[in-house]
Amino acid sequence: MYFFRTVTVSPQLPERISRLKELSYNFWFSWQPKALELFERINRDKWQELNHNPVKLLLEVSPDDLARMAGDQEYLNLYDQVMAELDQYMNNQTWFAEQYPDLAGKTIAYFSAEFGLHESLPIYSGGLGVLAGDHCKAASDIGLPLVGVGILYKQGYFTQYINREGWQEAHYPFQKYNEMPVRPALTEDGREVIIPVDLPGRVVYLKVWQVQIGRIKVYLLDADITLNSDHDRGLTAQLYGGDRETRISQEILLGIGGVKALRYMGINPAAWHINEGHAAFLCIERLRELVQAGVPLATAKEAVRASTIFTTHTPVPAGHDTFDPDRVHRYFNHYYGLLGVDRDSFMNLGWDPKSHSFNMTILAMNLSAYCNGVSQLHGNVTRKMFHYLFDPIPVEEVPVFSVTNGIHILTWMSRELRELLNSYLGTAWHGNISNPEPWHAIGNIPDRELWGLHKSLKKKTINFVRSILQKQKTRNQEAAENIAEVAEYLNPEALTIGFARRFATYKRATLLFRDKERLARIFSDPERPVQIIFAGKAHPADRAGQELIKYIYDISQEEPFKGKIIFIENYDMNVARHLVQGVDVWLNTPRWPMEASGTSGMKAAVNGVINCSVLDGWWPEAYNGENGWAVGRETGYRTEDDQDRDDAFHLYSVLEDQIIPAYYNQTDGYPKEWVDRMKNSIKTITPQFSTERMVKEYTDRFYSQAVRRGEEFTANNFQVASQVQDYKRFIKDNWHHVTVKSVEVESDREFKAGEDMQLTATVYLGPIPPHDVAVEVVHGCEGDHTLVGIKTSPLTVEGQSEEGVYRYKGGFTLEQGTCGFTVRIRPNNPKFATKFELPLASWAANF
Ligand SMILES: *Cc1c(COP(=O)(O)O)cnc(C)c1O
Repeated sequence: MYFFRTVTVSPQLPERISRLKELSYNFWFSWQPKALELFERINRDKWQELNHNPVKLLLEVSPDDLARMAGDQEYLNLYDQVMAELDQYMNNQTWFAEQYPDLAGKTIAYFSAEFGLHESLPIYSGGLGVLAGDHCKAASDIGLPLVGVGILYKQGYFTQYINREGWQEAHYPFQKYNEMPVRPALTEDGREVIIPVDLPGRVVYLKVWQVQIGRIKVYLLDADITLNSDHDRGLTAQLYGGDRETRISQEILLGIGGVKALRYMGINPAAWHINEGHAAFLCIERLRELVQAGVPLATAKEAVRASTIFTTHTPVPAGHDTFDPDRVHRYFNHYYGLLGVDRDSFMNLGWDPKSHSFNMTILAMNLSAYCNGVSQLHGNVTRKMFHYLFDPIPVEEVPVFSVTNGIHILTWMSRELRELLNSYLGTAWHGNISNPEPWHAIGNIPDRELWGLHKSLKKKTINFVRSILQKQKTRNQEAAENIAEVAEYLNPEALTIGFARRFATYKRATLLFRDKERLARIFSDPERPVQIIFAGKAHPADRAGQELIKYIYDISQEEPFKGKIIFIENYDMNVARHLVQGVDVWLNTPRWPMEASGTSGMKAAVNGVINCSVLDGWWPEAYNGENGWAVGRETGYRTEDDQDRDDAFHLYSVLEDQIIPAYYNQTDGYPKEWVDRMKNSIKTITPQFSTERMVKEYTDRFYSQAVRRGEEFTANNFQVASQVQDYKRFIKDNWHHVTVKSVEVESDREFKAGEDMQLTATVYLGPIPPHDVAVEVVHGCEGDHTLVGIKTSPLTVEGQSEEGVYRYKGGFTLEQGTCGFTVRIRPNNPKFATKFELPLASWAANF
């Protein structure tokens, strides 16, 4: 090896169009069709070849092309219009400024291991990353002062090739950052930002890059610099690559390096959002900062907690990072002294008593005021999953909330549909997508116009799929006639299903093939043809996922499926956009209840592509009987095989009895019922499942609260944080005293709905004063040895009989049916973010 320096030499941009450069570095371009058109027009072939990377395009186009553009009046008009829109966007009055003037300038930090912003920046693997990207775009739209923190992976996730045998090959091309829409972050005096992070036995240095997304920035950390050893330069090479050592190192670089990077740049967030457990080490670094500044650790924990939000994204165990305690010890023993703890107390920060390991999800939960799942159902699943950590509390009261995911509508809706909507809804909806009101005007769009548009988009998608297949077959050096044959693949008139997602096994990509004969009958009906397009990557270490791809590929080569079942390689945001904009039906068959949310179905729905999905993730919240189809039962099964059997059977029936007839029942050349469903889908799903709704919800429920709590807890030398920790310690130390001694209740009469039931409870609190606890009736319906649909009614203290013994009285209103009730005591502190911030409860024994 030898050393060389590189310089980037770009062609001169003519002065008249010089702001193209600025535009190429602001991902605002990625959801503005006219901005994209500005780049595309310069050189269409290159634009495709470079996978829509505007920075690289401007580096590689010829000066002649640029000069031609600078002299083309029509182009210049478009250019002026786009630049005016960009300036207007950047300076608009925003929702956040109007709603939260008191929070102006308070930064929200958003840490995520992946960000999916655009195909030109491949640092995402799937839904989690795309969600993070869409979160940032919506934050910019509504004016939220958010900064993202992530990692710039030299080789990204991976590029997927499908070889001649139908196996996935993972390729890891090195990205050249100077050819991508990222720039080095600079200090105020113009120096690059380099951050040292301690790893065992050495220091690793991170260079900080920045990405502009409309009004906001994401900072990306990069270890691939000459200050580091070759080994350490590879630490940020691949997303989800390497072994456990790589993983813990990456998470330290992200969490700890990320906090240090923000501080170095003078950014001091008022609230911190941990997007999935990978980033949870940020809490440890914030604890260290406070302890080093003289705050006792227990108080520091309360201060960190007060301003932190955590979102968990999957019930799949592989999605929850755990580390062996010896490994954690090796990486963190130098923190013990800094925090003033021993090994055990350090481990306790993230200890999982079940797996006896250090769990990043638990670390994040322990140090966050608010924790949420990403759909209603996923909230339930998460509460069940972690109930063992909240033992004395009913599962439904485990403090995990739900904020259902969304998508950035303007990123995912086709330009053509957007323009059609503009002409019937006006353009005001762009700035207020989460308002359901304007969407009712969709009824005004003539059916035929919408159908015509959909058919043209479908042709476009089919051409796109064919071109990818031809490229793939050419690269694989297949026979010329095989390549030529691709032009005949896929019939633009046929019912076309799309299925694209990561090939994780719980997503059950091959459920459709469970009864191949029945499928063959469906697919070979000459009157009512059906076809399906698949795409998706399997993690390179996931052999089972790769076998699913191979299995689908093999079937796609068999009759009667040839040309009707297609697998296209390298599912990325570009492939996703083409598919969700131009198939007829979006199929989703996860194993209930493993899909935390799912977002690709939302992308399809807002394009009038109709969902056919298991009632998992987001779909139970969206499905109304008229905006798509539902498959399977909302229940667990004794065995996975039984579940597959039932779901597949139901899927075939829905296809045969509902979907295919609805599509082919065309009078006057179009399917009326189908178009009704398309409209219903766009109308009901777009506002509710937008990231605009989602980020506003995060802001109202969590960010604004966390900012205020953070300030309250740290003010006056951490007075409130210190009080809360004193309170918690006192309660924990004395909770063993707390008992419900007796409950008296009138029982010997018949009760009518609406009447009050009165109770008296005698409790022993030991040294704890009554105002530090809540004594309450807990009532609900009788479930399996539990109460469900729990409600609580407070009891009030009536008097004290002996030392520590109090009488409480109160009642609750009876509802019809068999009702269960009991009395419990729980800690109560007005500074708690959630009722069970301290998960203790003492329940009445029998009465
Ligand atoms: C939207 C998207 C996903 C997530 O889709 P799911 O429905 O959650 O599986 C994954 N990958 C890409 C490229 C996407 O655009």
